[in-house]
Amino acid sequence: MKILVLLFTLNLSLFAYEIIQTPIQFDEKRIQLTKDYIKNHYGLNVKNIKIIPKIVLIHYTAIKTYETSVERFTRSTLPNDRPEISKASALNVSTHFMVERDGTIHQLMPLDFMARHVIGLNYNSIGIENVGGVGYKEDLTVNQLLANIFLVKYLQKKFPTIEYVVGHHEYRCFEDTELWLEKDDGYRTEKFDPGSEFMRDLRFNISGFKAAPCD
Ligand SMILES: [Zn+2]
Repeated sequence: MKILVLLFTLNLSLFAYEIIQTPIQFDEKRIQLTKDYIKNHYGLNVKNIKIIPKIVLIHYTAIKTYETSVERFTRSTLPNDRPEISKASALNVSTHFMVERDGTIHQLMPLDFMARHVIGLNYNSIGIENVGGVGYKEDLTVNQLLANIFLVKYLQKKFPTIEYVVGHHEYRCFEDTELWLEKDDGYRTEKFDPGSEFMRDLRFNISGFKAAPCD
């Protein structure tokens, strides 16, 4: 009985979400920096920065509040305190969606534009950031989990090309697949977000996707 009630609640929640449009700056400069990134890191000369999504990639921001989290993505160029990735490109990081602690969903940029949110897979993936994970603690909320379930199902309908739903901590599993495009073997960062528990709970509530291709 309890399980039935839970499922009923989950189904209801799928219809209850509004995606708030909260656009970050995506000016000519950011578009040009994105083209340069695609050329320098993926070896592709592109006329536009449109992607065909194959992966939904889940993150947490490791920042406490929505306001401070979204501020990190607003500008076209990287802030000065990211030396570990600024050598690779001045293009600022971004994400397609940001989910607040209470489950409020914001769309920050066009879904078919490339965002810089993961090494190797940007040209194939849609990013979902969740506010939280300060100190790399797995502390995302149930409301965020429900919002992520909704978003994954929404994206599954919108983009039949999507095959994978993976956590950022699993990104290196793709290094030997055709989806991996990064040319620089020395460009890697260690990632813990969003953590295996969150991905387990998310995967329990979605279907029709392949697992991350880890050994
Ligand atoms: Zn991440």
